[in-house]
Amino acid sequence: MFDRFVNRVRDMFTTRSAIVKTPRVIMPEEHGIDPALVSVEARATCEALKRRGYEAYIVGGAVRDLLLGVTPKDFDVATNATPEQVKRCQRRAVIIGRRFQLVHVIFGREIIECSTFRALEGSGQRKDATGRVVSDNVFGEMWEDAARRDFTVNALYYDPQTQTLLDYHKGYEDLKAKRLRMIGEPATRYREDPVRMMRAVRIAAKLGFQIEPATESPISKMARLLENVPAARLVDEILKLLTCGHAVACMNKLREEGLHRALLPMLDVIVSEPDGEKFLMLALKRTDERIAVGKKISPSFLFGTLLWPQVVKRWTYNEEKGMRRMQALHAACVEVLATQCQQLNIQRRYQADIHDLWMLQARFERRTGKVAYALVSHPRYRAAYDFMLLRSLLGHVPTEHVTWWDTFSKSDEATRAAMIAEAQREARQTGDAARAHRRKSGGPKDGDEEGYRSTRHRCRHHYSRHRRQEHQPDA
Ligand code: ATP
Ligand code: MG
Repeated sequence: MFDRFVNRVRDMFTTRSAIVKTPRVIMPEEHGIDPALVSVEARATCEALKRRGYEAYIVGGAVRDLLLGVTPKDFDVATNATPEQVKRCQRRAVIIGRRFQLVHVIFGREIIECSTFRALEGSGQRKDATGRVVSDNVFGEMWEDAARRDFTVNALYYDPQTQTLLDYHKGYEDLKAKRLRMIGEPATRYREDPVRMMRAVRIAAKLGFQIEPATESPISKMARLLENVPAARLVDEILKLLTCGHAVACMNKLREEGLHRALLPMLDVIVSEPDGEKFLMLALKRTDERIAVGKKISPSFLFGTLLWPQVVKRWTYNEEKGMRRMQALHAACVEVLATQCQQLNIQRRYQADIHDLWMLQARFERRTGKVAYALVSHPRYRAAYDFMLLRSLLGHVPTEHVTWWDTFSKSDEATRAAMIAEAQREARQTGDAARAHRRKSGGPKDGDEEGYRSTRHRCRHHYSRHRRQEHQPDA
């Protein structure tokens, strides 16, 4: 009760400090946005709305990127038309979202996200006891919408027709000074939505901006508020963070601010595993490098990497308890996925991929017989190979092993047969053959395709059972 009263009083002050009703109008000669970088679809969306008498502007990250001369990855539009009105103006549009209603205007593969100006404080806004906004669908005026946005550089409105830029909160100045500044009173804004703390870290790292001191100082004190955020929303934000091309910088900054614990509840465990820290940073560095050269990054690869040190620990433990190598790994995979997926709400399709990625690591150890052929034609071979490469960089897999697989996957039939024969000779010498023999004379053939398939089947069954017990997130 008292908490609510304190939050309410604090909110009154925030509202006051964020009231700016007249924007500064910045002309094209000054801002220099190149109209050729504006997506045709975003322009068409704005034009269709304006033809019907509504206001419509490109907003958010796209304007920020345009001002920095970068081609934006996606475009958001803000308008005074309600979601229903937007839908009527566009040929293919769907209304989505519960907490905030949005319209997705669909142009083939390009989707323009269209939001209606939001009111600053309305009867439709509900907050929980910690001050977090849990539902909100009240529409307002443009100046209110600007005040509701997070950072000043994210509250710039660009009209693609007149090419003018509207700035309510000195975002243009901040952008030029490479400064990330919260609109309103930072602590209140973080309380309303703790994810803003992570956004501050990500946007600053991505753009090479400094977080302004008043915006930065409450973060480490308020980090724990992230615990109240629904898991699904956190996972979305983690993925954005890890795939923004500056994952290493983000991770360092998250640590500095003490946000990483809430972000990946098990991160502390991960980095405390032998080599966990090195593995994590190496994986993030590789991710950044891949993004820099325009390669795709799959969420399953990322999660697979983050959780791998825990899998290794349990794999070793299970083997020491007497389980066979492949079974020990499978059990480790299931255990780690079960705990992490519950906490992180990792989607089911990612779980199956992560499981494959891990299981294939053990299959790489066997370079004899049919297994090798089956492995290189496995749909996840490429990702699993990249993962093994990562492990070899830390000295967990011999480099010759990695080279062998690379050569094998690229060779013709005759060379492959010769390579396998050679590997078999080697295996016999090193005692692998003895193990192979033990397996032959009883127990599951853990390296073979049938054994693997049934393992995976059991694993899928496990996930579906696990998923049924989960509750659905509210955002
Ligand atoms: P990115 O480059 O990742 O797309 P972005 O700033 O565009 O960065 P989006 O998640 O696409 O991020 O959000 C679009 C805009 O919506 C933001 O620029 C900001 O104005 C507003 N916004 C997004 N999330 C929040 C939030 N949690 N609180 C307030 N405003 C937000
Ligand atoms: Mg965006």
